[in-house]
Amino acid sequence: MSLVTAIKDAIIPSNGKVVSLIDEFMYPRFGFGRFSERMADAIVATGNQIRLGAGVERVHCRGDRVVAVTAATDRGAERIEADHFISSIPLTLLAKIMEPAAPPEVLAAAEALTFRNIITVNVMLRKRQVTPDTWLYVHDRKILFGRLHEPKNWSSAMVPSDEFTSIVAEYFCSFGDSIWNMSEEQLVEQTVRHLADDLGFITRDEVIGGFAIRAPRAYPAYVIGYERPLATIKGFIDRFENLQIIGRYGTFRYNNTDHSIETGLLAAKNVLGERHDLELVNAAKEYHEIKHLPHGVPSRT
Ligand SMILES: Cc1cc2nc3c(=O)[nH]c(=O)nc-3n(C[C@H](O)[C@H](O)[C@H](O)COP(=O)(O)OP(=O)(O)OC[C@H]3O[C@@H](n4cnc5c(N)ncnc54)[C@H](O)[C@@H]3O)c2cc1C
Repeated sequence: MSLVTAIKDAIIPSNGKVVSLIDEFMYPRFGFGRFSERMADAIVATGNQIRLGAGVERVHCRGDRVVAVTAATDRGAERIEADHFISSIPLTLLAKIMEPAAPPEVLAAAEALTFRNIITVNVMLRKRQVTPDTWLYVHDRKILFGRLHEPKNWSSAMVPSDEFTSIVAEYFCSFGDSIWNMSEEQLVEQTVRHLADDLGFITRDEVIGGFAIRAPRAYPAYVIGYERPLATIKGFIDRFENLQIIGRYGTFRYNNTDHSIETGLLAAKNVLGERHDLELVNAAKEYHEIKHLPHGVPSRT
């Protein structure tokens, strides 16, 4: 969001057209994970299986078709055969684990594309509230995290009782850099130091614990020139008639959750015989933080 937009909104409220400035939004009582859990319930209820903790390590192809994947499971490597394959694993990883191996130019393209990682650090507090805000972006170069939020502000079910709250700080980083290399203990201590000593949001005696969660390859990096290697990989994947790519990492497109789910739904419809071009999802050059609504449509989102 631009500063000009913020100033304009302060004078004449934008009434929901600027997504970052909306006053209210719906959020699942038990958190964002409920979207996945409810979809999983529906999948299992219709007699299907979801295999968690099964990392795909090989994608076996024959001619223009994928015939099987090999996944690492608790019980060892397992080969799973199928008629259709839909991939949401990082596109670069997919290109590297195809068997027979992808051509050298595709493997080089997979090396050229990079992702940014994220580490979220959750600091649990004996305190009722730190801030009434939805998100806070932190632009100070001395502060190592870039954004923070207070889950209790989204749903009171995010804390055990009203006596408590928590802050989640987001560290954007890359494999091998000084942030990614920090231990969980260092990350929690760093976050507490910033929140207490630099920002004055909390006092140290309010802290009752903390933990960190690492998400490798969370953001496709749109480095100048990324389009060419991306086109090379997609051109290669397109050759396989029963393989579709979906999601954010799967397509190397900066998709949000709604786009990611939409690509999954359309891929499923394609399996059922419909013809949808998944490339068209989130292809508009519209800036995500501003909604352009047709005349007469209510602007609440
Ligand atoms: C900090 C943060 C905040 C965000 N906030 C919002 C928001 O407010 N609104 C919004 O709409 N979107 C938000 N997003 C974006 C949203 O989370 C993503 O767009 C969405 O999760 C992408 O869905 P996906 O299915 O492509 O990937 P994911 O949900 O990440 O699923 C990919 C899955 O593939 C698994 N995987 C990876 N490799 C393998 C392998 N080899 N074998 C098997 N499985 C594998 C991963 O473990 C993961 O579970 C946010 C993202 C981040 C990181």
